[in-house]
Parts: sequence; structure tokens; C-alpha cells
Amino acid sequence: MTPTPDPRAQRFDTLLVANRGEIACRVMRTARAMGLRTVAVYSDADASARHVREADEAVRLGPAAARESYLKIDAVVEAAQRTGAGAIHPGYGFLSENGAFVEALDKAGIAFVGPPASAIAAMGDKSAAKARMANAGVPLVPGYHGNDQDDTLLRREADNIGYPVLLKASAGGGGKGMRVVESGENFQAALEGCRRESQAAFGDQRMLIEKYLTQPRHVEVQVFCDGHGNGVYLFERDCSVQRRHQKVLEEAPAPGMTAPLRREMGEAAVRAAKEIGYVGAGTVEFLLDADGSFYFMEMNTRLQVEHPVTEMITGQDLVEWQLRVAMGEPLPCAQEELTITGHSFEARLYAEDPEQDFLPATGTLTRFAMDLEGAGLDPERVRLDSGVETGDAVSMHYDPMLAKLIVHGDDRAQALATLNRALAALDVQGVVTNRAFLQRLATHPGFRDAELDTRFIERHDTTLF
Ligand code: ADP
Repeated sequence: MTPTPDPRAQRFDTLLVANRGEIACRVMRTARAMGLRTVAVYSDADASARHVREADEAVRLGPAAARESYLKIDAVVEAAQRTGAGAIHPGYGFLSENGAFVEALDKAGIAFVGPPASAIAAMGDKSAAKARMANAGVPLVPGYHGNDQDDTLLRREADNIGYPVLLKASAGGGGKGMRVVESGENFQAALEGCRRESQAAFGDQRMLIEKYLTQPRHVEVQVFCDGHGNGVYLFERDCSVQRRHQKVLEEAPAPGMTAPLRREMGEAAVRAAKEIGYVGAGTVEFLLDADGSFYFMEMNTRLQVEHPVTEMITGQDLVEWQLRVAMGEPLPCAQEELTITGHSFEARLYAEDPEQDFLPATGTLTRFAMDLEGAGLDPERVRLDSGVETGDAVSMHYDPMLAKLIVHGDDRAQALATLNRALAALDVQGVVTNRAFLQRLATHPGFRDAELDTRFIERHDTTLF
């Protein structure tokens, strides 16, 4: 039986990008290359921002505050209607995982460059998502994700799992409502604390319990599905280097990965996506334990910040794939046609001060440049995805990420050497950044030797700060 093509897909010649900064510029670059007309949206703080300058047309959404501009569904839909945009790319953050936004677009007959609202909803609640994943045969961290939230029952479940356990808000995100419980005596107090935090942040008190893995790696699989029933994986990224659950350095492929494990994780990720009727680019995040066991953590139903490392090792343009799928085309490649070439790193450049507890920094970029030629770097191997240029102001209204530096090498050692040279060639003045911190990370012997786990930064804090 031929599956019915995605009814939401349609051809379009104008694309509105409902985002700002580097990702808006990144998406428009591919859209232009595909011959599409581009529409930017902006808040008052971004009236002369790079993404606005680069678009064919731009529409003001409202004041600087995101909830009055980039998060305003009605204003974004109206901007698309006014400019004749047949599709909207949401980037990441903002409205990218907002089911109500997708429903509003469906109603307005505008294609959403992303999954159906039902797939977003299926992954939005951690407990419900886990139940679906168990159903699809995707391995889960041993734990409890049931509806019964009775104190005694939860305590008994935690005792059965064995300490340490991790309490997580079912409705959670961004590391909120999450606590490690070392022993049974601390359980009740931690439960109450988590419930309070979760109630305040998400208006929901439901908890799930997981076995706390002490030295896991964060390994995520890039998946892609079209509206014709095809799904592939574009291998994995290792994002273990995190500070307070925020990724700092990412790489692909994951060091030490074996071919059978890669395939097993890839196939599990595609099963996860198919289970929820996924369409478009998605990422299935796993924790990988030292013994090679892997466990589903969550699925991000959007294009990730770190997608370029996957592009570097596969030679594919993921935004092009997204736009083609949104137009109703089948995936450009079958699984057997996808291969890994070399190694790639991404470093996130933030306007923040590592000397002051990573406080966001503001100001005017009196210089923002990278002299590739002077540093003897091959432009084919170094990519700077940025949302700013010399002369631009950096405000405190949005995410402080200025740019991403992405490099490619024949192998990990060569890619790392290139990363270090490129970091040194980056010339940013006028705004404090985390560049020196990235350099300390990228030259760290533990990082060089790929001794990775999610507590890498914590473990090495004395040599990194
Ligand atoms: P959020 O949605 O709030 O980001 P996640 O469930 O994605 O929460 O977890 C965030 C981070 O917490 C992960 O990247 C990982 O570093 C850590 N983590 C999550 N679950 C576990 C676990 N069971 N054991 C150890 N670390 C975990």
C-alpha cells in the first residue's frame, strides 16, 4: 500500500523565517540557493539586525520582548499572509515546538517546515513520550513513568530502581524540576522540592523517576522522515560537553562508536520517529552508558543548533531536506546512500563572561571577523554560522549565542587542530565572549583524548576556569 502523502505539504515560492540570529540567516542562505524569496520577521530590538538585512522582505512583529514579538502566533501568521509566504520555517526555540502555532498554520493553509502538531504533542510530555517509546521497542532508562503519583508508591518505585535516582518533572524542560536523590532518606524532601519547582515552572506536579547514570554520554541521532513513509538516520552527534545542561562543544561522529551500535541506535531513533508519525528533521537524544547500553531521553521535534556537524560529515544540507519535505517531496537519499566522511566539531560562541559566572554580556561589536586566509585555513573546512557582523549591537533580550564555529577534518585529531586554529583566528571586539573558555576546552588533554561524559566540565572545573 502506498502511504498517503502528507496533506500539509505544498509547493511554495516564498518562505518566512520565524526566528532571528544565526539560525534565521542559516535558513535563508539555503532558501535563497533554492531560488525561494525570503521574508524575515523582527522585533524593535532587531530592526536593523543581520537577518533583516539579508531577507528580501521584512515584517515588524512588535516590541523587543519575545512574548510580544517572536512568540506572537497571530502576528507571525499575519506577516506570512501579508507577504504571500506559503511556508514558515521556525528555526529552533521560539515557536518551533509549539503545537498551537502549527495548528494555526494548518488552519491558515500555510505549510509548517516541521512535524505535525500531533507529533510535537506526543513528545511534549516526558511520561507520555516514554510510554510511546516503550511501545516502539526503544530502550528506556530503568524507571517509573506511571500516572499514579502517590508518595508511598513513588518511594517504593525509587527503592526498587536503586539509588541514586533522578526525579524529573513530566512536563519539564531546560533542566528545571530535576533532582538527583542519593538515598531513600532524602527522597521525600526531594520529591516535595521538585513538585514545587515543577508547579511553579510548568503548572504541573507529575514526576517521573529514572535510574541516575553516573557517567553517561549524551549521544543524539539525527533522523529525517518524509510524508511518504520514508525515514532515515543521519548518524549521531556527541554533545556530552555541557555546562548546566547547556551544550558547549559538539562533534560528529561520536568517538569510539562501533558500526553495530551506530546502526542499533540509528534504527531505534527511526522507530521512535515513526511511532509518532513524524515528518521532517528530528533528533532523538540518548544517554550512552560506559558499557555501551543506550537509553532514550527525549526527542527534539525541530532542527537542532548543532545540525551543522552532521552536515559536515554527511555532505547533506539539512535545511534543504526540510524545505523539500515541506514541499511534499520524498527524502533525497535512502539509508544506504548516506555515509560518514571525516570528523566535525562545533563550538558555540556566546556573548557571556566566563570570569563572571557566565553572565550574559552586551555592547556593540566593534569587530567581528575571522581571517581564514591569514590563518592558513581551508574555507571548505571551516564554517562560521553567525547572526551578527561588525557594527552590530548585542542586546540582553535574547539568547546570547552570537555564532557557531564549525570545522571539518579527515579525522578527529585533524578536525580538533583546525578548531583550535579557527578559534584563534576569530577576532571579536567590543563584546565579551566565551572564546578563551572554548579554547581551554578544545586544548584540554581530556577532551583531546575523548574522555567524554556529561560531567566533563564539572569534573575539570579547576583546569578550565
Ligand atoms: P530537560 O528536558 O530539562 O533538558 P533532559 O531529560 O533532557 O531534561 O535531561 C537533561 C540532561 O540531564 C541530560 O542531557 C543529561 O546530561 C542529564 N540526565 C538526564 N537524565 C539522566 C539520567 N537518567 N542519568 C544521568 N543524567 C541524566
